[in-house]
Amino acid sequence: MISSESSSGLTSSAGHRDVYLRVHGLSKSFGSFLALKNISLDVYAGEFVCFLGPSGCGKTTLLRAIAGLEMQTEGRIEQGGRDISHLRPSQRDFGIVFQSYALFPNLTIEQNVGYGLQSVERDREKIRLRVKELLELVGLPDQGKKYPGQLSGGQQQRIALARALAISPGLLLLDEPLSALDAKVRGHLRHEVKQLQRRLAVTTIMVTHDQEEALSMADRVVVMNHGVIEQIGTPTEIYREPASLFVADFVGSMNKFEVTANAPESVSFGAVNLVCHKHGLAAGSKAILTLRPEDVIPSELGQGDGRNQFKALVRDMEFLGSHWRAWLTSEAFGSQDLDAHFSINAVRRLSITQGVMLTVELPAERLHVFTPEGRRG
Ligand code: ATP
Repeated sequence: MISSESSSGLTSSAGHRDVYLRVHGLSKSFGSFLALKNISLDVYAGEFVCFLGPSGCGKTTLLRAIAGLEMQTEGRIEQGGRDISHLRPSQRDFGIVFQSYALFPNLTIEQNVGYGLQSVERDREKIRLRVKELLELVGLPDQGKKYPGQLSGGQQQRIALARALAISPGLLLLDEPLSALDAKVRGHLRHEVKQLQRRLAVTTIMVTHDQEEALSMADRVVVMNHGVIEQIGTPTEIYREPASLFVADFVGSMNKFEVTANAPESVSFGAVNLVCHKHGLAAGSKAILTLRPEDVIPSELGQGDGRNQFKALVRDMEFLGSHWRAWLTSEAFGSQDLDAHFSINAVRRLSITQGVMLTVELPAERLHVFTPEGRRG
């Protein structure tokens, strides 16, 4: 029972992914308020999935329903092929880490980590060895005799992780585990948690409102809004191919322009036509066109064919350390600024400074069209 490997029982084989957790048609009401609306989702064995969304979107409620800490109003949850929908938390197979460290302050670190083991293992020596193994696993082998109050926030969260992993749960649930930590510790721990999860191959779900955290840690991200799933995809899919205007806007920054569809692969923006991703909107329909700031290409660097190229004035610039942010204006864009991110090399090579005129290309494959309601056009 007490080994460091996941007890999920299901492993992924090449080319085939086993579903470990299945959520089907899940809804949750609090009185007349519907917090989750018909959520369906498969999580594969060994996968790291993040629930990402703004405050109040329902991500914590969904995690708590999976743990049995909140009972769904409708729907079904299966874990490892077993219907767990109506089981108490103690009958389910998961370890959980909360935002606040939630360690017992009056118990030593060793006692905290070993706490859950006592109900499944009587042999004190086996418990001692397992606690030692777990403390090594989270990189704190010498802290066992201390009390939680003597550790930093980051160290306490590592202990909370060790405690959650103690009984080798099939499922690891992380509820904003890093958000109480300062930025530097958070960045470091983000990497450590991900490495550990990969090593143990434990199926993991993490709730976060931090997009960078979700994109950097997850195998797949579930973007939620108002109790529904807006998109499920790999971090690259979510960032590069947002399924809705909400996702495009919530993850990363985005230029948005009001345009009119005029052909299957083109829209008109003010007086100009822009070639874009193929869309299904009828000619004359109003639409929203999006483009990431880093996809604005100073044209000398582009491999473009002259399409979607404009002269623009660099109205202002801001140095952000890893790159420059520039605000561009052009007669083509009307009164709206175009937000562009240029690499330091590009700025140096093309002598881009405030006040110069620049030719920029807006690559057609990076221009996405949405309906005014925010759905894919
Ligand atoms: P946050 O990041 O702020 O925690 P969240 O996406 O995790 O947000 P939830 O905590 O899941 O959001 O809450 C979803 C909605 O359900 C919110 O509007 C919240 O006010 C409501 N809600 C959650 N728990 C309860 C409860 N016990 N009683 C009534 N309403 C609740």
